[in-house]
Amino acid sequence: MADEAEEVEPPRVVDRSEHEVSRRDIDPDALKILYRLQDKGFRGYLVGGGVRDLMLGLRPKDFDIATDASPRQLKRLFGNGRIIGRRFQLVHIHYPNGKIIEVATFRSTGESDRVERNGELIHRDNVFGTPSEDALRRDLTINGLFYDIATFAIIDYVGGFQDLEDGLVRMVGDPVHSFREDPVRMLRAIRHATRLGFEIERETRRALESEREEILKANEARLLEEFYKDLASGRSRPYFEELDATGFLELLLPSLTATFRRRGARRGRALLQESLERLDERHARGEEISHVLGLAALLSPLIVPVTETLGGSGNEPNPEPFREALMPALERVRVYRRDAERLWHVLGAWGRLERAMERESIPKSLSRRHYFPEALDVFELLSEPSDELDAFLELGRSLPPPTEEPPEPKRRPRRGGRGRGRGGRGGEGSGGAARARGAARSPAGGAERTSSQESDGGGGRRRRRRRRRTSGKRS
Ligand code: ATP
Ligand code: MG
Repeated sequence: MADEAEEVEPPRVVDRSEHEVSRRDIDPDALKILYRLQDKGFRGYLVGGGVRDLMLGLRPKDFDIATDASPRQLKRLFGNGRIIGRRFQLVHIHYPNGKIIEVATFRSTGESDRVERNGELIHRDNVFGTPSEDALRRDLTINGLFYDIATFAIIDYVGGFQDLEDGLVRMVGDPVHSFREDPVRMLRAIRHATRLGFEIERETRRALESEREEILKANEARLLEEFYKDLASGRSRPYFEELDATGFLELLLPSLTATFRRRGARRGRALLQESLERLDERHARGEEISHVLGLAALLSPLIVPVTETLGGSGNEPNPEPFREALMPALERVRVYRRDAERLWHVLGAWGRLERAMERESIPKSLSRRHYFPEALDVFELLSEPSDELDAFLELGRSLPPPTEEPPEPKRRPRRGGRGRGRGGRGGEGSGGAARARGAARSPAGGAERTSSQESDGGGGRRRRRRRRRTSGKRS
């Protein structure tokens, strides 16, 4: 680990009396970890989105911790800790309620070994570093603040404190460099700007324009995970509107934006906005947003025209017309086979649902299907509101839960090789999102883990397996 005397710029230190972060608002388990690190002579910093949200008076989704203890030392300190990751190891601390808190050793800035393979960026780095190096590797300045448990001060190496006060989204360091290093950061910048209602700082905005096409080099699985996260965020409409306005939607889902130019009663863009709005309303009611429901909203301008051709005629599942309409859209943002299969099941039930609604009766052969409740949700999301629809949904939701078990995704033989690499800093975000699905929500609604800057973790390995299984045969 580099000597800290080498650090060039001293950080701004914001005294506890000058900021809003209070221990009362920090998840008690995260606090215990911080104190234990301190007791054992290590540094314990709360980092990332947790600090940002606490400073803004919001409730963080997760509490990530950074320290100078190595993963092995962490493992010894925390019996419930598991080392995950290959390129960059970090430790997940597990709790009985399913909560996971991520503790990472400070990461170095050492220019990672950046390779481009098949047009996709791959990074290799496994070097631990100093707090300042760790801060300089982060994406946005507002995500680069540290809360120090030893002094209760905020330590700011990147100017994030001022940017939070000014409501600015700014990349750490040179934005062009940052985006080239990890194009997914472009989406993250837009996400945080729309989520927080922040302005995008000028240089960052310029780089978003000049580097836009770099997004095509981002790993497809990470893009998808980012999309799922935003679809389920409760702010999907403003986010995707901004992706549309900035040209990213057209780059990533060209066949979707092509519908915006078509004529018709429920035109593409309006349909998308309406569907996302309904998704956000659902989130506001505290209802879950599954991958399939999110995809159905995002792809609604392609799906709804197909539903209009079915005419309530179906007695049999009929996914084919949907598959045909959606496959071109799923080329650049590829959906895991499991989600795709579920989507075909759910959409394939559309004709049967229409018929059942007309007859005001739902056959058991439909309601017992594992996908029936989700099919009802999608039906609700994409149908024109009516009293008839409400009555039908009520009927459908009053039935006993499906008796059919969802099928296990088919296993395909493993192929050799390492599979495709991921872009970014060791695939940040993607592993986290995969894990987030596995991790149960903590009853306190507190420190459920979502994702981190590192995370080529256990989730990464699972994902690699899945990718191998699905490669060449997606969707
Ligand atoms: P959210 O509220 O959505 O969880 P977040 O900022 O906490 O937002 P995470 O994905 O949980 O986002 O990541 C945690 C932290 O890791 C970020 O705050 C940021 O410091 C860092 N990070 C995440 N992704 C990247 C990235 N692609 N490049 C650099 N740093 C990243
Ligand atoms: Mg987070």
